[in-house]
Amino acid sequence: MKREKLTKAVLLACAAALLLLGGIPIYRHRRYQVPVVPGPGVTKVVRLADYGAGLKGTPADTPVFILEGKQPGGKAILIAATHANEPAGMLASLIIVENALIEKGTLIVIPVFNNSAGRNTRAGDGYPLYFEIPTDWGSKTFRMGNRDASPLDQWPDPDVYIHYPERQLLSYIDIRNTNRTWPGRPDGALMERVTFAAMEIMRSEGVDVAVDLHGAETMFPVTNCIVAPEKSSKIATLAAMNVKAAEKFDSHVEPSPAGFRGLSHREIGDYAATMPFLLEAPIPFLDQPTGPKTVRLLLDGKDPFLLSLAKKKKLFVPYDEAGWSMDRRVGQHMSVTLEILRQFSKRNPGREIIVHDVPRFADIVRNGAGSYFHDPAAADPDELVHD
Ligand SMILES: [Zn+2]
Repeated sequence: MKREKLTKAVLLACAAALLLLGGIPIYRHRRYQVPVVPGPGVTKVVRLADYGAGLKGTPADTPVFILEGKQPGGKAILIAATHANEPAGMLASLIIVENALIEKGTLIVIPVFNNSAGRNTRAGDGYPLYFEIPTDWGSKTFRMGNRDASPLDQWPDPDVYIHYPERQLLSYIDIRNTNRTWPGRPDGALMERVTFAAMEIMRSEGVDVAVDLHGAETMFPVTNCIVAPEKSSKIATLAAMNVKAAEKFDSHVEPSPAGFRGLSHREIGDYAATMPFLLEAPIPFLDQPTGPKTVRLLLDGKDPFLLSLAKKKKLFVPYDEAGWSMDRRVGQHMSVTLEILRQFSKRNPGREIIVHDVPRFADIVRNGAGSYFHDPAAADPDELVHD
């Protein structure tokens, strides 16, 4: 009897030790803050909850950077980390926050749109919790997040997710996916409140253009592209043609399917006067048949299994030994975004959004995305924003 009790106590202690060993890194990751140095173009930093009271004090609230030009003009919103396991868009948006100057119009930037997903992980798939980008002053550490919000923040999941207001039946997990909960509602599930607050920014500020930055598998047909509904397709086509001609990379246009609800490129256009664009850059890390999900794979996109699949023509993007680096993905997002804004501005006099001092594709590939981040230790601590 005594021996049995002792065995039970030892097993319990082992289980508690394992729980602590596994739990502490996840606890720290959830609380890790990335210091952002707002650049000379940032005129205001607000919170998403300022546009949706249902987010106040919740883990879904997130910083919103506003960059206003000297001259009035049009307005654009840039949304990144809708899926927090597709981090190139977040890096591109932070490069804009830390460097851009706006000559005309207003740029609104949300670098970590799904803040809960940005503090979530996928332990079963062996996701790294962080990744580091080399900079001129050391390295900058970012959280690697997950596709969906954490169940710690939104729970329980329904058996079937019924989209609001279109009532389409979607997979249960998509109620935590902020690219299925558009246009949202003020008193719905937490992620519906996130997309609702963003819709409120677009409706109340009269935003002309919305760009939602993503990454997609090389084996997924909708990759390396701009997804656009009818109202955005002309600008998207012009942007795609221009980056192809001037910057020599592909980002073709895919139509937004009218019958598939909850996505930004569909609902933003249908529920606001805004023109939406969703940008996909190839991210080999997310493909299923790869080696271990390491930070290295996330950063260089090189994988021998994908290479052999490319030789069998199973991928939807050109792929060789060079992989598909983070710098290339960040650069594509930056150039396509700038080109969308330029094409919109050319066709909408009085509503221009003119952005300066932002690197384009070739600059980022040559210098590395990290070279555009400023040292938080050298900045005024009162100016820093923790994202
Ligand atoms: Zn995505």
